[in-house]
Amino acid sequence: MDYFNEIDAGVDAVAEASILCRKIQRSLNRFPSLKKEDLSPVTVADFASQALIISRIRKRFPTDVILGEENSILLRTNTEYSKEILFFLHDHMKKISVNDLWEIVDQGKSDLASTDRFWVIDPVDGTKGFLRGDQFAVALSLIEAGEVRLGILGCPNLSDDTLGPSFRKGCILYAVKGGGTTIKFSEGQSTSPVFRSRNIQANAARMCESVEAGHSNHELHEKVLKALGIKNRSLRIDSQVKYAVLALEKADIYLRVPRRNDYREKIWDHAAGAVILTESGGKVTDLTGRILDFSKGKTLEANYGIAASAGGIHDQVLTAVAHSIPLS
Ligand code: AMP
Ligand code: MG
Repeated sequence: MDYFNEIDAGVDAVAEASILCRKIQRSLNRFPSLKKEDLSPVTVADFASQALIISRIRKRFPTDVILGEENSILLRTNTEYSKEILFFLHDHMKKISVNDLWEIVDQGKSDLASTDRFWVIDPVDGTKGFLRGDQFAVALSLIEAGEVRLGILGCPNLSDDTLGPSFRKGCILYAVKGGGTTIKFSEGQSTSPVFRSRNIQANAARMCESVEAGHSNHELHEKVLKALGIKNRSLRIDSQVKYAVLALEKADIYLRVPRRNDYREKIWDHAAGAVILTESGGKVTDLTGRILDFSKGKTLEANYGIAASAGGIHDQVLTAVAHSIPLS
């Protein structure tokens, strides 16, 4: 299957949501974030982006199942906040009411048990980075039979010279399983293939990890770097932009050692990024070397943490992890 229609609809939806999120990021002081039940922040952009992507996918694939990270619980008791979201959506969607908004956001509350094909949305991945004015991603993927078949990652604050002067241009990376990875820059329509061509030595690799120390164990990452003989300073970047940075050869290892042994990664935090890196020539497994299993519902229940790398050094990374970290 070529997934031509899915790519077309998905890339357009992510491009539109990325522009919308950047616009909201620039006017953040107007809109405070709310706190979800797990105390993580959620913003006007998370809800607006989820509603926009769901409405675009629904239009082209009316019967497809969609799983989105957000739901309308907080909005239903906060009409004022819901109206702020509509304010940003009115340039993108025909006039909708707050009730319509709640209903559209909740179309992402699907039960995955009854289907083996579904879309996954992380409308603003890296909300903490988004709130700091840093990197964030808009992530959309399509899963079939427990495998990511299509991944699309909007990186509104990332450009080809990742850390250089034109840092804030924006791009979208996308990949179809077996079909390679492509990049499209926000300025202009042209696309180019993305593949890692450089062979690197493990001790010359650069690692990237979360900015948020609560999301992964920086101290244990440091032990792995030592075991690999790496002296380069690690890059700290929010969201699945880390996968994009590896695909673009600006870093070579992405580790995510959980702070708590019982933490299981959310599928929306990895589906798009993992297929994009794999299709560019990189490798993605969990910390024990297991393939990521997307057939277990909303979390990667059968996996523990994440190890991603430039393909050629993956075995060395896993060996260093096994020597440095108590794997449960
Ligand atoms: P990052 O920007 O790479 O730190 O990843 C952001 C994602 O971390 C969010 O989308 C959350 O789903 C996820 N997250 C939140 N709490 C934790 C945690 N305790 N451990 C690992 N990931 C988390
Ligand atoms: Mg996320």
